[in-house]
Amino acid sequence: MSELLGIDLWIKRDDLTGFALGGNKGRKLEYLMAEALASGADTVVTCGAAQSNFVRQLGAACAILGMRCVAAVMALPYAEIHGRPAFTGSDEGGNVVLDRILGVELHSYPDGDWEDLARHAEELALEQERLGRTVYRIPIGGSSALGAYAFVEAAKEAPGFDVVVTASSSGSTQAGLAYGYHGLDTRVIGVACDPEPEIMEDLLRLVGGLDDLTGGRKAMGEADLELRLEWAGEAYGVPSPAGEEALTLLARTEGIFLDPVYSAKAFSGVIDMARSSELGGRVLFWHTGGTPALFAE
Ligand SMILES: *Cc1c(COP(=O)(O)O)cnc(C)c1O
Repeated sequence: MSELLGIDLWIKRDDLTGFALGGNKGRKLEYLMAEALASGADTVVTCGAAQSNFVRQLGAACAILGMRCVAAVMALPYAEIHGRPAFTGSDEGGNVVLDRILGVELHSYPDGDWEDLARHAEELALEQERLGRTVYRIPIGGSSALGAYAFVEAAKEAPGFDVVVTASSSGSTQAGLAYGYHGLDTRVIGVACDPEPEIMEDLLRLVGGLDDLTGGRKAMGEADLELRLEWAGEAYGVPSPAGEEALTLLARTEGIFLDPVYSAKAFSGVIDMARSSELGGRVLFWHTGGTPALFAE
């Protein structure tokens, strides 16, 4: 790929983190599950797309720790302001098969917007509490400041890059990396997987939360966060033609599989930026995983 793109390309293989088929969510769970345990919870409630990689890895963490895992899911949640996409998401195969093996209690709802989905999760949490259970709530994608902190730590594993490119959706991967690399000579680019500029608000909330959590004073603002929307495609969960091309190219060039929802879109950004000479020096593509979703599309 370096030769093809004319850049010095490296890939951080978080698709190979190893836990429950890998992916960026395993890092967040290392911290989130410690807090869940410390809180005395016996049940974790979250939400996501049916093909959520977070629900899959969370399901494994809960099973190991003897906690109940309850998730509100939709085949294809969308942003109300952009309308419902014509594409239909998949709530069979892929991650859903793995969720069942892990014993995740999946509650499926008709497609609606992200706020509907979060509301369903809160209803499920309240229902669990009425049953006498102690609930630990995790926001979509594990994107609390504590989840983001995992990526502040992760940045230390890959020093000395001029540019780091990652997929961005619920925001804690990009926020954590941007926070971790802040003040070093590394530019962090988040490629949005949803055409939703509101991701910036989540990033700002998360970097603010990281200051609170770590006692830091970075006070990062919009100028410190590079969110790129041009490779997001039509909607969350809808594969983009450029992403499909990127996925095929990397598979056939390196034998490395991307996923259609996140990393393929991010890598299509790498390809475009390399071709337009926007990228130079040592470039790190942070592969966030998600490959089980290949078997659902
Ligand atoms: C969740 C996910 C992302 C996005 O990470 P966020 O921290 O939610 O922004 C990227 N790639 C894959 C494969 C994911 O599962």
